[in-house]
Amino acid sequence: MSAPINAPAVKGWCPGAHRPMMSAEGLVVRIRPPRGELTAHQASGLAALATAYGHGTVELTNRANLQIRGVADAHHAPLIEGLDGLGLLDADADAERHRNIVIDPFRPLGEDRQTVCAEHLAAQLRAQATGDADLARLPSKFGFVIDAGPRRQLAEVSGDIRIEAAAGALLVRADAMATGRIARDGEDAVRLALELARWFVASGGVGADGRGRMRAHLAAGAQPPDACCGAAQPNPAAPRPQPGPRDGGLTVAVAFGQLDAADLARLAATGAPVLRITPYRMIHLPGVSTCALAGGSLILAGDDPLLRVVACTGAPGCPQASVTTRDLARAIAPLLVPSLPAGATAHVSGCAKGCALPAPAALTLVGRDGRFDLISHGPPWSEPARRGLTPGAVLSILGG
Ligand code: SF4
Repeated sequence: MSAPINAPAVKGWCPGAHRPMMSAEGLVVRIRPPRGELTAHQASGLAALATAYGHGTVELTNRANLQIRGVADAHHAPLIEGLDGLGLLDADADAERHRNIVIDPFRPLGEDRQTVCAEHLAAQLRAQATGDADLARLPSKFGFVIDAGPRRQLAEVSGDIRIEAAAGALLVRADAMATGRIARDGEDAVRLALELARWFVASGGVGADGRGRMRAHLAAGAQPPDACCGAAQPNPAAPRPQPGPRDGGLTVAVAFGQLDAADLARLAATGAPVLRITPYRMIHLPGVSTCALAGGSLILAGDDPLLRVVACTGAPGCPQASVTTRDLARAIAPLLVPSLPAGATAHVSGCAKGCALPAPAALTLVGRDGRFDLISHGPPWSEPARRGLTPGAVLSILGG
């Protein structure tokens, strides 16, 4: 593999509400919604807080969390108070660290088609992990995925330990292993998942800098104990979700994950009992049929060109970036339909870290020293085919 050409600084930790991250635009406050969903009351309240204390947008992350950007130091305390009033605040930074759990957002409401209620599994994971001295050493980016439906909805979503289903039973699988161990029941699945997490810590998965991921640990030769391994294959993966009606509800995409607070308030008023936050920068509204939501930051059509391109925060929000990203992403989106094969994706990344898509894309544009390097069919850190392009030059190459 090529060495990174423009290595970014890696922070290795994620912001929270109690422990926000400073950016050039002010604090970034991350909210981890309980069960991966907001009630209508929480959603409208969050929209009001984002308008009062942030930039008036709520950002959807690829871990199904929400972020308010541009918070002044002096506004952090009232924002925290507002989040607490909405039931969107953990007790402390340690508790919010242990909520790095992504749950299938398309699960039915209430008791469901799944072998065991996913929300119950997540609650048990959190409860048993909080206060555990061994698990306190897990890196902040280390996460769990609960994806136990008949088709896996989160196969593309990063997660170090996965609870899935196989032929009517629950299965626990380390990320990067093709197969996992069948659990006797939900309680056993939680026990196995935490045993795997403890093994990860005890076997040296956490580096001296406090970082580490399961995939890299296994790639370096670590082998989980037999008691945590098995030969069961998880249920097949579902296709990547698209906006539109599905599973008795409506899925709405958000351009570049930047949800206008006014649009969040509109979603809160649809009558959906909850707004499910997905890791695909989409929100699923159970029980909602088609309604007049398109426009603003919301996308309802699966063939919208903006869905063909992903872009990270870029400048000025991220200190690693020397370029803005979303303006160019919007400009190239309509040009991608004729110039890229159907289904191919483009990626505009502020630097070689590739936060928005740490994987290959058909076309990747990486910011460097105020210009863009162009990579064809590779990840952001691979060797560029063209270097030092202005946005105008990129548009010319794409026929704009
Ligand atoms: S990829 Fe984008 S968001 Fe991530 S560090 Fe680089 S500029 Fe920042």
